[in-house]
Amino acid sequence: MTLFPEIFNSYMNESIMKRAVENNIIEVNIYNIRDFSTNKHKKVDDYPFGGGAGMVMTPQPIYDTYKHIVKTHNLINPRVIYLTPKGKVHNQEMATNLSKEEDIILLCGHYEGIDQRIIDLIVTDEISIGDYVLTGGELPALILIDSISRLIPGVLNQNESFEEESFKDNLLEYPHYTRPREFMDMKVPDVLLSGNHKNIDDWRYNESLKITKERRYDLYKKACKK
Ligand code: SAM
Repeated sequence: MTLFPEIFNSYMNESIMKRAVENNIIEVNIYNIRDFSTNKHKKVDDYPFGGGAGMVMTPQPIYDTYKHIVKTHNLINPRVIYLTPKGKVHNQEMATNLSKEEDIILLCGHYEGIDQRIIDLIVTDEISIGDYVLTGGELPALILIDSISRLIPGVLNQNESFEEESFKDNLLEYPHYTRPREFMDMKVPDVLLSGNHKNIDDWRYNESLKITKERRYDLYKKACKK
């Protein structure tokens, strides 16, 4: 649910997301909240009660969009996620859990946000994509769509597997190298050319530990607990 449906088109029509849609593994339907406004000028926002800067998205168009989606897709108690800086900060574990859901409705705010009564009435989860404020919920929604979709079986092919990526077991990923073997006097680590898979695995694991300890001590502590 968005006021700016066009934002989704270019991203969903490229690369892995496009392939996932074409292969019918995921389906993304974009609903323009403005289409559901009963106001004769299709107005979707108004001044905040109590004063203050900015506009607030009114409840009626959002509620009617929601009712339409629920009816069209025969949803019973769907998960409705409002993207907001006030929400729980998104991470890989949340993406993994959401990838098991059959249907998810994403609600993108704009301006100062949405009327609280919509949150109280239909929203089941509030999710933030980080501690900063964007102009709208569209980029956050795309981030959710991407991070969730790539964990659904069949979306990535074998070469793009997510099994050995950052955040698996709370570790950041080891460094990658490809051809050529030498670039600007810098060589690929010998172990990666050795063909010895045990040594390669050990090297990668140690590199993962090292980089996680340096950059994300919070994750490193969790990784060591396991
Ligand atoms: N007044 C709000 C506040 O202080 O929390 C910020 C509103 S923001 C300018 C407009 C919309 O962008 C929000 O309703 C939300 O949908 C989206 N948004 C902005 N930052 C976000 C973030 N970090 N994570 C998720 N959504 C965000």
